[in-house]
Amino acid sequence: MRDQFLPFHLPAIDEADIAAVVDVLKSRWLTTGAKAKAFEEAFAGYVGSPHAVAVNSGTAALHLALAALGIGPDDEVIIPTMTFAATGEVVLYCGARPVLADSTVGTFNLDPGEVQRCLTHRTRAILPVHMAGQPCEMDAILEIARSRGIAVVEDAAHALPARYRDRMVGAIGDVTCFSFYATKTLTTGEGGMATTADPDLAEKIRTLSLHGISRDAWKRYTAEGTWYYEILMPGYKYNMPDIQAALGLAQLARCDAFWARRGEIAAAYSRAFQACDALEAPAVEADRTHAWHLYILRLRPGALVIDRRQFIEELRARRIGTSVHFIPLHLHPYYRETYGYVPGDFPRAEDTYRRCLSLPIYPSMTDRDVQDVIAAVLDVAASFRRPVLRPAVQPG
Ligand SMILES: *Cc1c(COP(=O)(O)O)cnc(C)c1O
Repeated sequence: MRDQFLPFHLPAIDEADIAAVVDVLKSRWLTTGAKAKAFEEAFAGYVGSPHAVAVNSGTAALHLALAALGIGPDDEVIIPTMTFAATGEVVLYCGARPVLADSTVGTFNLDPGEVQRCLTHRTRAILPVHMAGQPCEMDAILEIARSRGIAVVEDAAHALPARYRDRMVGAIGDVTCFSFYATKTLTTGEGGMATTADPDLAEKIRTLSLHGISRDAWKRYTAEGTWYYEILMPGYKYNMPDIQAALGLAQLARCDAFWARRGEIAAAYSRAFQACDALEAPAVEADRTHAWHLYILRLRPGALVIDRRQFIEELRARRIGTSVHFIPLHLHPYYRETYGYVPGDFPRAEDTYRRCLSLPIYPSMTDRDVQDVIAAVLDVAASFRRPVLRPAVQPG
């Protein structure tokens, strides 16, 4: 057994990241400026989107995407129940109603058939989440949206980098929102990015991100700018400081290498777990590439004498950190009390939730760490197997 606890996640911070942040501190320009602009340009190029706006969280990116689209009171936005708090609360920030939908059985993603079922005359947008880093069924979702004249905003907090058919996530829907939270595949500590092909939406998101004023601080305070500005609309304080942007820029240079390492780890896990019928490795659709932000393992119902909670405790006793993604929104008190959702409303998301756990998957894991995780998971599965009933031996 390991003698050191393996954390569920550690960010990949190297000397180049540290030097990039120190350079910003030394420059004395700390808030949104040249680094934020450079990060936006590099990021837009990376995902193949014409416009990118850097903000201070993934949640802020989602909020501004909906606000820029004019989502407001009496509007409905369809979101998966299988997601993090942020996906739902940004709809609430706009005064609109988050309408929850179930996921598919194989992937953990929003089911296009469920989207169809949830449409009403109030539906203004669909907000799919690329769970764990595997893109949703985007052509089906876009087709529904186009036929109804409604928008598609993607929660791509897990999906950097990921590809759906011939398109990178970031260049598919009307607006795509990324998160650079400490545990995400690229981190700025806290941060986010909205990408879009629509110049007007990009401009609106940018304006809303800094008090709704007409020019950004960088232009206002340098030689080419002036002291003058205009408030065009009530905005927010969501801009990304250069301290964070410099870290993002440095991390972006290693984004492909990070992804390749996570892919290796996922492949090693899936190979090893194939042989154990108590474990269900995550399925990957043939027409997309997975970002592998999360490796979500499911326990097969009835195969073990312990449940998921105990499985996690057994792994912790073997010094392996894990997590659970996610507790479906409709099971939380706020959603139950406000909208009357009850357990049983979304059976597929609930089934996944009851038997899923996320294993460590990050670039700084050594091969030894990966083998330790595999050994611990297989050991717990073998130690708590439900005995197979043998046919009784007939006397005589
Ligand atoms: C992390 C996350 C977010 C929010 O990102 P922040 O940068 O923390 O605001 C949104 N949606 C999902 C699915 C996430 O995992």
